[in-house]
Amino acid sequence: MSLRPVRRSAHDAGRALGRVLGALSAALLTLACVQCTNDGARSVPARPSVLLVTIDTLRADHVSAYGYARKTSPQLDALAADGALFETAYAASSATGPSHATLFTARHPLAHGVVCNGVVLDASIPTIASLLSDAGYRTAAFVSSYPVASKFGLSHGFAHYDQDFGTSGGTMKSRRWQRERGDAGALDRRGAVTVDAASAWLEQQKDGAPLLVWVHLFDPHAPYSPPAPYDASFLTADPSQHQREIDLYDGEIRYADEQLGRLVAAFDRTTGGRGLVVVTSDHGEGLWEHGYGGHNRDVWEEEVRIPLVVRWRGKVEPGRRVAEPVHLVDVLPTVVAAAGIAPPAGTSGVDLVAALTGRAELSAERLIYLTRPYFGERARKYHGGTGWGFGLRRGSWKLIEAQSEGRRNLYDLARDPEEQENRAGEEAARAAELAGLVAG
Ligand SMILES: [Zn+2]
Repeated sequence: MSLRPVRRSAHDAGRALGRVLGALSAALLTLACVQCTNDGARSVPARPSVLLVTIDTLRADHVSAYGYARKTSPQLDALAADGALFETAYAASSATGPSHATLFTARHPLAHGVVCNGVVLDASIPTIASLLSDAGYRTAAFVSSYPVASKFGLSHGFAHYDQDFGTSGGTMKSRRWQRERGDAGALDRRGAVTVDAASAWLEQQKDGAPLLVWVHLFDPHAPYSPPAPYDASFLTADPSQHQREIDLYDGEIRYADEQLGRLVAAFDRTTGGRGLVVVTSDHGEGLWEHGYGGHNRDVWEEEVRIPLVVRWRGKVEPGRRVAEPVHLVDVLPTVVAAAGIAPPAGTSGVDLVAALTGRAELSAERLIYLTRPYFGERARKYHGGTGWGFGLRRGSWKLIEAQSEGRRNLYDLARDPEEQENRAGEEAARAAELAGLVAG
């Protein structure tokens, strides 16, 4: 497939078709909505409530369910044991806006147009929230930082959008983001505050209506300043500066994980534990593996490998672990299928629940597309040009094509998971073939 932007005419046709399919789905759901299916001993609602959680800046290899030596995520680990864990999950990009837009639309960044933070998602593109809202779901979002504020378009389809950053005191030192001042003087809020708001809302939704709830937690994002006692959870004696950052980053994960546990408990109280829960992230975090800390820079594994856990009791066998690569484009097909809705035209991705139950296939050779976030000032600073670049994984091979620097890197992740040995020279034909798959 091509990562070039879709032409407007095709885009419009896809939207029109999507609206027709959405209307048909809604009509069918009206007929089927009160039915339940019996799956084993459990009664599973035909239209489950959905809890979608994104824990911002959470790299997979610092999650204990993914093998990290520190117990950073007991709540997520328990959720994975109660559902399925995808061991090789990728974000679309290493930036918040582009990856969230892909998660909500099942389109890659050049197709949905949010190529960097601050770009507004086109409200005409169907999202998980708009599709479920059109189908009769009650929708609400609770977000924790300014890059996903409603003004950037991710709020499309949510009837309720809670983004009050001003009342709890943010953690980010800056009060500006890309030259903009936060609406309430702060740019983010702690996970506990966000989860309190979501839990209070959930407490009021016990009439049986199907719900879509998106909760965005921001704590692992810099600055790494977990509240007590999480600031001391993983402190190393006499740490180096880098180790100190890692210790505190892990403490933030442990704190966010605790909030996740509270949130899932609140969701289960409202839904009887029968809802679909999806937990993932928008990107990882560089911890100096490639010379810098942070994200929003490139598509190295530490910036794009994320956790992805799906729990749906009665539908997804507990304790499943899936090795084949998956991607944020898979979230929309999974969620809308659970709600009985066909994915709109123009979307990518695989229904992961169908894959878990043998109704769809995942392949180890699947092409995994990654887009480097790029925009003028930042691109010039970090990449010396436009910043345009992408990544592509097929099997164990991963290409990073940094076009603005004229750099082509190729890694065999099976023997070089930390991407240290560029083999683009000795494997030039393979690198060119992979590059052609993206550019064609
Ligand atoms: Zn982010």
